[in-house]
Amino acid sequence: MTGIILTAPATEMSTHHGKEFLGFGTCTPPGVVPGWFVRYFFYPKVKNKKGVAKFAPYGLRKIEAALIERGFDVATVHPYDIERYMGDARVVGVSVMDPLGFGPVSVTFSSLLGGTPSTRLEFVKLMEKLRPYKNNKNKIKIIVGGAGAWQLEWDKYWKNFVDCVVIGESEEIIPELCQKALKGEEIPETIYCKSPEIERIPVIRRPSINGLVEVSRGCGRGCRFCSETLKRRRDVPLQRIIEEAKLNVRGGTKGVLLHAEDVLLYGCRDSRFVPNEEKVTRLFKEAKKVTDQVGISHCSLAAISSKPSLVEEINHILEVGERIPMFGVQTGLETGSSRLMERYMRGKVLPFHPNEWMDVAEQAFAIMHDNKWIPAATLLICLPDETEGDIIRTIELVRRLRSYRSLIVPLIFIPMEVCALGRKRAFTRQNLSQAHWELLATCMDHDIRWIDDLMKNYFAGFKNAFVKFGYWIFTTWVKKAWKNRKKEIMSLHI
Ligand code: SF4
Repeated sequence: MTGIILTAPATEMSTHHGKEFLGFGTCTPPGVVPGWFVRYFFYPKVKNKKGVAKFAPYGLRKIEAALIERGFDVATVHPYDIERYMGDARVVGVSVMDPLGFGPVSVTFSSLLGGTPSTRLEFVKLMEKLRPYKNNKNKIKIIVGGAGAWQLEWDKYWKNFVDCVVIGESEEIIPELCQKALKGEEIPETIYCKSPEIERIPVIRRPSINGLVEVSRGCGRGCRFCSETLKRRRDVPLQRIIEEAKLNVRGGTKGVLLHAEDVLLYGCRDSRFVPNEEKVTRLFKEAKKVTDQVGISHCSLAAISSKPSLVEEINHILEVGERIPMFGVQTGLETGSSRLMERYMRGKVLPFHPNEWMDVAEQAFAIMHDNKWIPAATLLICLPDETEGDIIRTIELVRRLRSYRSLIVPLIFIPMEVCALGRKRAFTRQNLSQAHWELLATCMDHDIRWIDDLMKNYFAGFKNAFVKFGYWIFTTWVKKAWKNRKKEIMSLHI
């Protein structure tokens, strides 16, 4: 009997064709492109055996490990197959990134394109599947956690529909919570969790999506708009990282994806955030012994500018530019305004000063360009008290970066419950000024300039010709649509 079922919305239960960056596409609202296209190209169903997922989101794997460690029998399943497992279920744990489409990427996409983000559609679909089991006599309890759990605090209907919302790092509290739910005891409507010591976070037992392995948790730079601010920064011991990397590779992932808010700060004890070259290179050397497909999720521009030699060193270890054509990474570009930098994200620019941000960012882009690192960089627009001058500085910055291979994606600021600016007003499409539209157009022009080059490198060696062809059609359509849309935007807003 499996009393605890773990799952996530279908948008998260996908390897995104082994290309983590394509996961952004799950925020696309169907309509502009058909729903089947978004599903097939951005979140095809993860490999599974009778619904039991072969790979699952890393956060869900941590919860699964915490429960297994305490002797619970757990099944982690794809949401489309969940009914098969509901017979004996008493508790359903759902991990969410963007359940109601209130995350910055979804809000930005749906503000610009209209419609409901796929992330929300899939969460609602999952809840509707669970509805009948909430009403029968052995009523199940639904517990929702994960990085996007705060969104339920903004929606009374769905908050009341589920039994418990867990906000923060839940590994320590989840076994006891499930125990209570299994016994049919009352559980709290909302739980805020403290950051556990790293030793108390269990090692995953089954493979994660795209071989993701956490190397550090929390950030420490303290940007006021970011949820990471509330977590303490902790590094995972190297031996545990390698244990998880090996488990993933044995379990069939194509490689490993080292994850942290800034992988280049692994092992860093410096209060000015200058990377510890020795610790970072050791991390990459050890990971490379496990698999020759090692990627990273995020790094900061300041870390690159403060230690350019580190990028070369990593390239040397991983053979980027030789065996591997490119190295994709997500990073925060945020703004060109030193005023906003000083006010909301002073720590992001360390060891430099906010006044130097434009130069720091450009230097990092130049280093990455020369070393075949491809940043997918996000900007943050509509921060509280943003002025036209701030937006113009950001437009200048994007123009300065034009000759560096990259994607630049503007995101609308969302005052998430879990960040220091949580009580500020949220912007909507109606609040976008003429200067914002000009910035959006500048970013789009930048991305269109690089898209063919990026696609060629991103899909180099990719075997599925049909998927490749689909993306080629998609980018061709985007380029064409942008030509027409740009004229419209120019005449309406600029
Ligand atoms: S540097 Fe990035 S992860 Fe760290 S607090 Fe700032 S926005 Fe968040």
